[in-house]
Order: sequence, then C-alpha cells, then structure tokens
Amino acid sequence: AELPGDGESSNTRRQVLRAAWSAVQPTPVANPQLLAHAADVASQVGFTEAFVQSPAFANVFGGNALLPGMHPYAACYGGHQFGNWAGQLGDGRAMTLGEVVNAEGERWELQLKGAGPTPYSRTADGRAVLRSSIREFLCSEAMHHLGVPTTRALSLVSTGDMVVRDMFYNGNAAPEPGAIVCRVAPSFIRFGNFEIFTARNDIANLERLVDFTISRDFAHLVDAHADVTARRAAWYAEVCERTAQMIVHWMRVGFVHGVMNTDNMSILGLTIDYGPYGWLDNFDPHWTPNTTDAQGRRYRFGQQPAIAQWNLTRLADAIAPLFANEADLQAGLDRFSQVYIAEYEAMNAAKFGFVQRGDAEQQLIRECFKLLYDAEVDYTRFFRALGDIPDALPEHDMLWLLGDVFYDNAKRDTHADALRAWLLRWHVQVLQHGRGFEARRAAMHAVNPWFVLRNYVAQQAIDAATAGDPSLVRTLLTVLRDPYTEQPEYAEFAGRRPEWARHKAGCSMLSCSS
Ligand code: AMP
Ligand code: MG
Ligand code: MG
Repeated sequence: AELPGDGESSNTRRQVLRAAWSAVQPTPVANPQLLAHAADVASQVGFTEAFVQSPAFANVFGGNALLPGMHPYAACYGGHQFGNWAGQLGDGRAMTLGEVVNAEGERWELQLKGAGPTPYSRTADGRAVLRSSIREFLCSEAMHHLGVPTTRALSLVSTGDMVVRDMFYNGNAAPEPGAIVCRVAPSFIRFGNFEIFTARNDIANLERLVDFTISRDFAHLVDAHADVTARRAAWYAEVCERTAQMIVHWMRVGFVHGVMNTDNMSILGLTIDYGPYGWLDNFDPHWTPNTTDAQGRRYRFGQQPAIAQWNLTRLADAIAPLFANEADLQAGLDRFSQVYIAEYEAMNAAKFGFVQRGDAEQQLIRECFKLLYDAEVDYTRFFRALGDIPDALPEHDMLWLLGDVFYDNAKRDTHADALRAWLLRWHVQVLQHGRGFEARRAAMHAVNPWFVLRNYVAQQAIDAATAGDPSLVRTLLTVLRDPYTEQPEYAEFAGRRPEWARHKAGCSMLSCSS
C-alpha cells in the first residue's frame, strides 16, 4: 500500500503466473563494506571469522559476487495488506542466494534485502536505505536474544550507492546511503505464498507448495501422519500454535510489529520483515509505530493477537481447497485461541512474579495494566523495578521503589495513591504465595528484559552510522546479546525514552517502506 502508484497500477503490474519464484541476479553496487555482522550467525552457517572479514564476504553479501552453488531467486507471493487483498506482491527487494547445510545438519537460507530490483519490484528500486537496514539488522538479533522466534541477520553491508526515498523522515527526499542486510532463516515462506496460488485458482501449485513446506520444514508431521489430509490439518494447527507463541512473546517484550499483513507472516511462526516496528515506551495498547496505519491503528500493540488470528483465517481460506471438511481447519484455528490464552496468562503471571494464577492474581494483573496506561508508565522499566522490590520493604515511599518510570508528572501524581495501594497488595500476594526475594527476582528478570531496542536508541546508532561511524551499531549488538542482564556500563541505552526523542523523526513513528 505504501508504494507509489500501487493502487492505480494493480491491473498493469507484471504478473508471474504458475511459479513460486523467479531466478534473479543481485545488481552490483559501487563499494560494498561490511559495517557489522552477527558472529554467532556466521558460525552457525559455517563461515569462519577470516572469511567474514575478507573482501570476498562484503562482495557476496553486498551483491557483487556469488559463491559457487548460489542460484538467487525472488519468491512470488501475494497478501492481504491492511485488511484488503492486494494481489501479487513478491520479493520486491529480497532475494534468496541459496541454502547452507551446516555441520549439525541444519539448513539455513541466506537472503539479501536491498540487492536491487526483481520481477516483483513494481515501480520501486529494490534497494534499502542504511537506516532501515540498521533497524532490521539490530532488531532481528535483539529479538533472537530475547528468546522471540525470528529471522536472523548475518550481515550489514553498506553499498556506497545513494538511494532516494520520498519520505517525511527528514522532511525532504535527499539521497541517503544504501545498505544490504543478509537475513537468515530455515525458510522465508509466508502466508502470502499460499494465498497467491489460491487467488489465481492454481490449486495444483498450491498443493505442491503445501506438501513441499510440510516435508521440508515440518518433517516430523510426515512421520506422525500417514494420511495426507490429517497431515495437512496437523500442519495448519501447528502454524496456528507457533503463531500464537510468537505473539505472546511480542506482548511480553512490548514489541509492535507495525505491518502485520499476511505477506509478512512467516509460515514457521518467525517474526519477519522489520519495517516500521517499535517498542512500547509508556504502556499503551493503542500505540502503533506505523505512520501509514496512524488512522486505523489496525496494527496497534493490543490488537496483535486478533490480527494474527485474522491472518491465520486468511491462510485457512487459502488452503481450504485442499480440504473436504472445513472442521479440519477450524480445529487448527481453535488451537490458536487455546494456546494464545493459556500462554498469555502464564506469561503475565511470570512477568508479575506470581507462582499461582488465582482470581486475586488475575485481578491484580488487570488493575496494573490499567494503572500503567493511565499513569503513563514505562513498560520495560516497570517490570524490572517490580522484580527488584525486596521482601522487607524499606521505609521509603512505595513509588520511589519504581524509580524513573514515569513520562508525565501530572499523571504520576494523579495515580500515585492508586499505584501505592496496588504495589502493597502485589507485595502481600507475592509474599504469601510466592518464593523468597532472590528466587522471585531471578525468575522475573528472566522474562522481563533489561534492554529492548527502543526507537530512540536505534536512532542514535543510525545517526552516527549515517555520519560515517558504525561503532554504535556494534556496541548495541553487544548490549542486545544479553538483554536480561543489567549492564551498568550501558545504562544510557536502557533508560526510558528521553523527552527530546518524543517527536524526533525515527524515534517514535515510522512509515512502511524505506
Ligand atoms: P512490506 O510493506 O515491507 O512488507 O513490503 C510490501 C511489498 O513491497 C513487498 O512485495 C516488498 O517486496 C515490496 N517493496 C517494499 N520496498 C520495496 C523497494 N524498495 N523496492 C521494491 N519492492 C519493495
Ligand atoms: Mg514485507
Ligand atoms: Mg518491509
């Protein structure tokens, strides 16, 4: 929806029929330079540090060369964007270079993002700007280390070419440096890869893709189900279950994806496509980082589970031609709600340090979220502070125990008494029914991160890298590798959003495509 002329040109768009992908070649760039890489991803795919540091690596992952055996392709997919069927989309700026099977027998797909146009680029250039590439690179890795299912990022390479985006980012359309991220995942297949075949009534290829996906990425189901319909139903149910688990993690860490279109939903239940994502600063279920979605707020934080379910229903529609009995798919969709509700409740209990989940705990959780919203409290810092509250309360004001979590002093004062009362009740509850302080704190800190990649922090790395210094990108890569451990030397990156960042471009709101 964000591409120029998208709506008008939909009838004339080049269509790739009866194919799941198109062979492509990266378009060479002027001067590929490695800005950062994830060393653990490199070793996971079998690359030595010496190779990563060699010019050959920057050449391959900047799109100027291929390794033997690489046959790049771009995938054909469609999707529902903002609730509407959008027809063919496809990898407009992504291309898979190939797959590696590592020493452990794991298969990893390597995909460049920003390596030039493909048959799916429509009117756009197939490129990515440095700032959006930094955001994708860092956030993929941040999510992984937070324990959230996600695609990974191997490398961030600057291209030496300039890219023009007509964005309200800097208030103008000045050229910006380009970059390429190499993403890594077992598969990049999305819900939209299935939807496109059904929309074209190409059921033969739909069936091939479903069975290919099951045999390659869900091999355990092949052994478990001899009957092909039962196997496909079990597959859909597992996709529902994995998606539910992914969303529970998003809610736990305060992640807002921002563009949950069906073309951005991974069939493996991985977080994919880091565009205008954001992290909650003050707790607000209505918040979305996506300026394109500012009106409808379809993809706001609190709506993510409902949207995931809606998207899974679109996937069910897409694969329905393979099922005689709709009940087979309904069972999978029901699994989404069951898993989501059970795991969401367990997750919240863990965040609050509750070992049991009775009415009193549920009530406290509900009241707390309302207070966090009303009093404009920082989501991440609140839960860390809560975990640090000892068994023996000091003489201080209870609010003092929370530290610097408020964004608005007037709102803090309005709700101060209610917050104090809530904290006392929470404290009584965890003392009566919980563990001792040390065990409680360790358990709470294991699910409540100390560091999340707040927009204003990522933006500082972007500003420095754009000015020629990528060192902050690498520093953040270090911090985000251990997000549940307090790292006092990096405390400046774990603070609540400072006032200067509230309205600064890139720090709180972003648009879809960059
Ligand atoms: P997204 O909103 O990032 O999921 O992208 C939606 C569609 O637009 C996908 O088909 C992308 O491949 C395509 N797209 C986004 N940016 C570009 C670009 N710079 N060049 C070509 N295609 C793009
Ligand atoms: Mg996308
Ligand atoms: Mg995108």
